[in-house]
Amino acid sequence: METTTITDCTILPMTGRGAVIESGYVTAVDGNITAVDKGEAPAREGETRIDARGKVLLPGLVNAHTHLYQVLLRAVWEDMPFLDWLERIYGVARVLNPEHAAAGALLGCLENLKGGVTTVCEHNFLNPGPECAVATVDAITGSGLRGVFARTVMDTGEIVPDCTKETPETAFGRIEDLMARQGGGDPRLTFRTGPNTPPINASPDLLREIRRFADALSIGISAHVAESASVVEVTRRTLDRAGVVEHLKDFGIPGEDAIFAHSVHLSADEIRHLAGTRTAVSHNPVSNMMLGDGIAPVVEMLEAGVRVGLGTDGAASNHGQDLFETMKAASLLQKVKHQDAGVIDPYSVLCMGTVDGAHALGLGSVCGTVEVGKRADLILVDVDKPHFQPVNDLVSQLVHCAKATDVDTVVADGKVLMRERRCTLLDEEAVVRRAQAARRDLMERMSAA
Ligand SMILES: [Zn+2]
Repeated sequence: METTTITDCTILPMTGRGAVIESGYVTAVDGNITAVDKGEAPAREGETRIDARGKVLLPGLVNAHTHLYQVLLRAVWEDMPFLDWLERIYGVARVLNPEHAAAGALLGCLENLKGGVTTVCEHNFLNPGPECAVATVDAITGSGLRGVFARTVMDTGEIVPDCTKETPETAFGRIEDLMARQGGGDPRLTFRTGPNTPPINASPDLLREIRRFADALSIGISAHVAESASVVEVTRRTLDRAGVVEHLKDFGIPGEDAIFAHSVHLSADEIRHLAGTRTAVSHNPVSNMMLGDGIAPVVEMLEAGVRVGLGTDGAASNHGQDLFETMKAASLLQKVKHQDAGVIDPYSVLCMGTVDGAHALGLGSVCGTVEVGKRADLILVDVDKPHFQPVNDLVSQLVHCAKATDVDTVVADGKVLMRERRCTLLDEEAVVRRAQAARRDLMERMSAA
């Protein structure tokens, strides 16, 4: 039995507005939270005890949409229209190899972990062969993070290189192999599939087959939906549908097991459809700003009852993986959009970064709050910093003052992955060096191609 107790901290369990324990403790036994209480923790024999005086304990953050390998592509293509940028991203598939995927994913996991993220949803879409997905899955499980591996499929599209187009049969076979390889052995990892960016790289046949396949395997769906006006324009021009969700409706893609990244350009009808089908959304405000995509109708979606989580998106359209920065951007962007400072409150934003993100990924019973019975995905934030003190409103300051570098300790699935900012599982320096070498090799191959 492995027991960990974190003592003497302020606990924000994210179980309801106003719920806070000023001075308390959390105990986890074999990764399960067994006690969340105020006061002094009873001593247990053989336990690991973490003194967290002056720190705030939160559920680990949930990054509901990213592409980990893209840390190798930070600031490579900027300042260009969305579809031109996307064509370059897809073009990487011509030279991408498993070492690039592994090295990038490890660095991406390290950055997420050091910023307090304990769950990442890796939306995987560049598969010149089966090996890059395998390498990425291994990097995620090796990092200790909880992962949702959304292995998507592309079968068409002018801007998609042939080497990464797959028939549904080939793609589904590879996904089944990937899942069989895990053998159901790692409870920290779940799988999804999906069309990548419909309709520009997904045929109607593929959409139909994806829904059937997802249902048959009881795995969810992840897709980029209505990210830019240009994608909606293609949908209208070529398919005579008012929007991307309207198009996806025809194939039953929306649903309780689906998460739609971005969802920037939606009609009121489409928002109602997402709410009615309990489809979740991952809002990626920093990426949306960087690519000039627009401002997602987050307030409208929340009002309609859509479950909204937060994502950084890949570093090729964000530059980083900082979910605290993402929360602040999500808050500010809605205030700007509506020209109303009160249109969204900090607690709702913190929910999007924790409990709502967990539900959006189908992990609501596993993580996202600090409660007895859930797995111990916990972070300690050091708020004793000049940019955080003095504290007037803890929740607002976590959203608007905290930075990724304020995260002191990370526990995922009961395992301490970082303590006093030192990683316990990953060799930080080796991960960075490996990514630098992979980036050099990737750039050389791209310029030679
Ligand atoms: Zn994305």
